[in-house]
Order: sequence, then C-alpha cells, then structure tokens
Amino acid sequence: MRLIAANWKMNKTVSQTQDYIRSFLKFVEHPESREILLCPPFTSLYVAHQMLEGSGVKLGAQNCYYEKSGAFTGEISPPMLREIGCEYVIIGHSERRHIFGEDDEMINKKLIACLEEGLRPILCVGEKHEDREAGMTFKVVETQVRLALSGIEDMSDRIDIAYEPVWAIGTGVPATPEDAVAVHRFIKELLREMNPKGEGKTRILYGGSVKPTNAGEFMKHPEIEGFLVGGASLDPESFAKIVYSF
Ligand code: PEP
Repeated sequence: MRLIAANWKMNKTVSQTQDYIRSFLKFVEHPESREILLCPPFTSLYVAHQMLEGSGVKLGAQNCYYEKSGAFTGEISPPMLREIGCEYVIIGHSERRHIFGEDDEMINKKLIACLEEGLRPILCVGEKHEDREAGMTFKVVETQVRLALSGIEDMSDRIDIAYEPVWAIGTGVPATPEDAVAVHRFIKELLREMNPKGEGKTRILYGGSVKPTNAGEFMKHPEIEGFLVGGASLDPESFAKIVYSF
C-alpha cells in the first residue's frame, strides 16, 4: 500500500495543529486504501495523537536521538515517541544532514534505535545538485543506503526510503517522474542484493516539490510507492489532494 507522508518541518503551533487536523479529517475517505501519515513538530505530537485516534491517519516524528534516555539536553528518544503514539520517524532528512551536520554513522545509529523500539523509520536519501551535475546520483544514493543500513541489512524490510533529491526540496522544481523512477528502481535492486529475504517490503517514496498539480503524474508509475511532502502538506486541502491523487 502506498504511503503518503506530510513533513511539516518547523511549522504549526498546537492550536494550528488542531485547526489543521479538524479540517484535514473532513477530506479523509477510505483511509484503508492508502497509508496517510502526519509528521508534525514534537510539540504537536500529543494533541495530534489524541485527535487522530480512530481516524486511520497515522502519526510520525521528524527526527529522534539514538539513546533511550540520559544527559542529552534537547533531544527526544524513540521510547518517548512510541509512548506518544508515533508509528513512524523520519530519519536523515536532508535538512538534518546539511543544516545540523548529521552523518551516515549517526543516521545508522538512529535507524537501529528506532527499529529496536518498533518504530518504522523513513530513511531519506538524495543527491545534491553538484552530485547530479557530476553524474554521481546513483553512487551517492548507493553510499547513503549502504552506510545507513550497515549491520542491519536484514531489517531493511522494516523501513521505508524516501528518495529526495536535495535540489528538489522546497525549490518548486521537482525531479521528472522518469528520473525519480530510475532512482527508485536502482534502490529496489540495491535492497534486493543487500537483503534478498526482504521481499520488496521497503517502499520507495519520492519527495521534492510534490504538489497537487504534479502528484498524479508521479503516481502513474508503480515504482513511486508514496510521497514525502513538505511545503504542500502545510495546507490540509492541498495535502488531501495529494493523498487522493491516485
Ligand atoms: C521534504 O521536506 O521532505 C520535502 C520534500 O519538502 P518539499 O515538498 O517542500 O520539497
């Protein structure tokens, strides 16, 4: 089943979250036909969990730390997220990598910590503009996937991967569906090699300037197994149009 995930980034207070969910739930029909996921900021998770209960819409966080508890000021752990009703966690988003300096080793530790807690991570990978120009897209993505899954290759069926070319995030310039499909196929093949028993259970999502106007084009391709949506998920009607674009 396809997964359509909203990444609100650092947007919406608690009251704005309440307004959004009240409005969004009016658009939700047949939630069992696709997996719908909201990833609000940490401060909104509790109220979002309460409001989403029974709706079929799932809840995820945008990040977490890899320790369970301790002297890590400002961090949030997987058990905290689990108890508050999260099923998913976005890990290794390009903003975490490039603004906050997360490296592949840290991302690997975070994936392990999430899996131990029974959370399903959405691992984000994607090349920068200069990598694409240099013809390095596949190499960069392969390295990110291999390092992120180092030592946990046999658990790759318990995660989803979002292919998000960095140059397409928040720029209004998406990849072409054909370019995205080529990378999605490459990742699927790579996972098949790394974990032959994974049975293709890892969904490959596309992210990067997805909007209601282009979502349908992507969804014509079965290789696009969902979306991770930033900007266009901030308005409930716009996100609902993406959710129901196929
Ligand atoms: C994202 O935040 O993961 C993202 C893809 O953002 P946008 O949809 O705004 O490009």
